[in-house]
Amino acid sequence: RLEIRNLRKAFAGREVVSDVSLSVLPGQVTCLLGPSGCGKSTTLRIIAGVESQDSGSIHVDGQLVCDGLVSIPPESRSIGLMFQDFALFPHLSVTQNVAFGLHGAKKANTDRVSELLAKVGMSRHADAYPHELSGGEQQRVALARALAPKPRIMLMDEPFSGLDDRLRDDIRDETLEVLKEEGTAVLLVTHEPGEAMRMADEIALMRGGVVVQRGAPYNIYNAPADREAAGFFSDIN
Ligand code: ATP
Ligand code: MG
Repeated sequence: RLEIRNLRKAFAGREVVSDVSLSVLPGQVTCLLGPSGCGKSTTLRIIAGVESQDSGSIHVDGQLVCDGLVSIPPESRSIGLMFQDFALFPHLSVTQNVAFGLHGAKKANTDRVSELLAKVGMSRHADAYPHELSGGEQQRVALARALAPKPRIMLMDEPFSGLDDRLRDDIRDETLEVLKEEGTAVLLVTHEPGEAMRMADEIALMRGGVVVQRGAPYNIYNAPADREAAGFFSDIN
């Protein structure tokens, strides 16, 4: 479970994240949805620990990850990352890519990698190298790699935007299925209302650094908080 309270961040005196509070439950997808420049990626980067906040706190499964005093390093946060340009290591095979972040016993790691490759439908490509795979296949391997250490939280920033339309729908559905099976709490950033409607259990609608509305997709769609929110949903595809 991910808990974010009163997060703030300014760059050069301009506040780009203003008092953002969010929670994401295990096995659920919360979509951070909003127009370009509203502060979505900055919020995600702070949660991942690659950017510091000015104030506010983050908890993962009840454990304090960062506040004004404490900051646990990114690799100790039990957070997995998937970004659009989060490339696989080109010199490592599919199996080696997925195993990369694992440090436990060899047998357990091998089992975990096989399990994940089966889940994402990539078992027969286990020995292939990234350049031998299509974009969609690489995306599947990236998902397996991010999930390998069993993160409690998965942060995804527009992870599907590099894929063509038909493939994107398939990968979205498959990704959701795997994430639900693993029981991961997912925070997904997107600027596409259609993607949020399709994937989210809850949408947090963001604008100008502020979460202006939170709720189930159809509640937000049917009862947008204001004219601007309604306009944002009107060009859904
Ligand atoms: P998009 O949908 O285009 O990815 P976003 O909602 O993810 O947009 P952010 O990347 O969070 O937006 O950026 C929010 C604002 O903060 C932008 O105006 C951006 O220029 C600014 N910003 C982000 N990172 C920095 C930085 N390191 N230094 C200065 N300004 C920054
Ligand atoms: Mg962004």
